[in-house]
Amino acid sequence: MTDTPTAADAIAAQAASHPEIRPFWQAAAEGRFVLAFCTACGKPHWYPRAICPLCGHGGIEWRPASGRGTIYSVSVLRRANPPYALAYVTLEEGPTMMTNIVDCDLDELAIGQPVKVALRRQSTGLTVPMFTPQ
Ligand SMILES: [Zn+2]
Repeated sequence: MTDTPTAADAIAAQAASHPEIRPFWQAAAEGRFVLAFCTACGKPHWYPRAICPLCGHGGIEWRPASGRGTIYSVSVLRRANPPYALAYVTLEEGPTMMTNIVDCDLDELAIGQPVKVALRRQSTGLTVPMFTPQ
């Protein structure tokens, strides 16, 4: 076994505890950012879950997301090594998600700034959606 799990290993491990969001991790591993949309009220939500948090319906479908959003709030952790940005990004589709802003000048980040998704493979083997300035 290698130090870094394969994407398939990581997805299987994640799906063991949260099988309902396996399609999310599978899509991310393939370079696609998808959102869970409720099949009753039609609205997307974040984080992904099997029961719609907006209306309580127990059905979702996965749809491609635009990958575009704006920074709702951002904090730069300057004492970390290396420093990094932790943010809430409001997606074009509506939901707001906690994430990191990457590949950017940390001093130039601002509330309201347009960003786009940047899928990043982690040492866990999972590919995680982060964002970068548009
Ligand atoms: Zn719903």
